[in-house]
Parts: sequence; C-alpha cells; structure tokens
Amino acid sequence: MTTRYIVPPPAVATVPVRGHGAVFPVNRIFCVGRNYAAHAAEMGTQPDKEEPFYFTKSPSTIVASGATIAYPPETANYHYEMELVAAIGAPVFRASPDTALDAVLGYACGLDMTRRDLQLRAREKQRPWDLGKDFEQSAVMGEIVPVTEIGHPTSGLIELKVNGAVRQSADLSDLINSVKEVIVHLSRFYHLVPGDLIYTGTPAGVGPVLPGDEIAGRIDHVGEVTLRLAPAA
Ligand code: MN
Repeated sequence: MTTRYIVPPPAVATVPVRGHGAVFPVNRIFCVGRNYAAHAAEMGTQPDKEEPFYFTKSPSTIVASGATIAYPPETANYHYEMELVAAIGAPVFRASPDTALDAVLGYACGLDMTRRDLQLRAREKQRPWDLGKDFEQSAVMGEIVPVTEIGHPTSGLIELKVNGAVRQSADLSDLINSVKEVIVHLSRFYHLVPGDLIYTGTPAGVGPVLPGDEIAGRIDHVGEVTLRLAPAA
C-alpha cells in the first residue's frame, strides 16, 4: 500500500558526484569540532590530541556550491569555515583502523557556515550549539570526488578566499584527528550508513563575511566550493 502523507514529505537533500549521473543522498551530517591545532587556539581552547567531539547539522541545511544565499537571520557575526568532507558509502560500525577508510565513497570541499555570536553565546552558557551551527543553508558542499579517482587525501593545501583575499591556508596533514581516526571513533557511537557526511573541521583563520561577499575554497586533488552572499537589500 502506498503511504499517504498528511503533509508533503521533505525532499531528499543531494550532492552531485563527479563523473556520475547519480547523486549522493544526504542522511546525517556530522561535524568535527576544533580539529586543527591553530584553529583550536584561535577559539581560545587548548589544542591537544584529545578525543574528537561532534555536533550535527540537519540534511535540509545542504546548499550546493555556486549558490547565492541571503545573510542569515539573528546574527551579526556570520563566519565561514572551510573543511574537507568525507562521504560515507558503506555501512560501518566499530570500524577498525585497517578497514575504516573502506567506508568512504569520496571526498568534497565543504563550508560549515556558522553564526559565531550565537555559537559562542551558547558555549559560554554551556548550552547546545544548534542556533549557531544547525540553521538553514549552513552546510555548503562541492561535488563529491570518488575515492576511485583520488584515493584518500591525507595531505595537500586547504585554502579559503573571501573576495579574492586568502583567509585560511593550511595542509590536510595538520588535522589533529585524521579521517581514519574520526571514523574509528565516530563509529563506536553510531552505525554509520551510506548517505552520512562528516565535516572534518576547519583550519585557523575563520572570520566574518558580509552581504555581497564571495567565498571560494579549495583543497588540492579534491576540488572547490564557492558561495556568494546576496547584496544587502
Ligand atoms: Mn567546522
């Protein structure tokens, strides 16, 4: 029997995959916090090799690279965070280090857009970060590049420019917890499934953007992600 919905069911969020007509359907979006030492320091915390921690974004927050979006509501400090994103293509639970990366279908460039004022206000009060992190159009994604094309990138430039000026510049090898280590850890707590995405954290140099700004990020061998903020009305 066909299910009848009392309201229209939400559309499945998708991300294009390079070289494929098929798109990647987004299930959950996990984001790693403070995974580059220099960024942890700029956020006023001690960078060390600690257990990774996570927050999540809703699948409906996905925005395709190249989009023009409005400056979001209820913030005066809207930040970019350039990140490597791993796309899960096979189920994995309690992954071993030897096989953890087998679960990755591919990689993409992503922007973890953040209402920094709301995030920091929540952090000070020891409240959840949702208003600062999980809001509409906050997860920007470039196309996924399959592992069959690029393997598993563990080094290479990760960079972000605003209006042509470099704001973030680091190397993937600076990750405190590598993609492999994150999957080993995260899969202790969740049965990861195809469709899950992992935003692996941002390097130092986060900062604000304003209406009319153009954001362009890239990672060696992986690709690029762009976002434009609509000019002020
Ligand atoms: Mn982030």
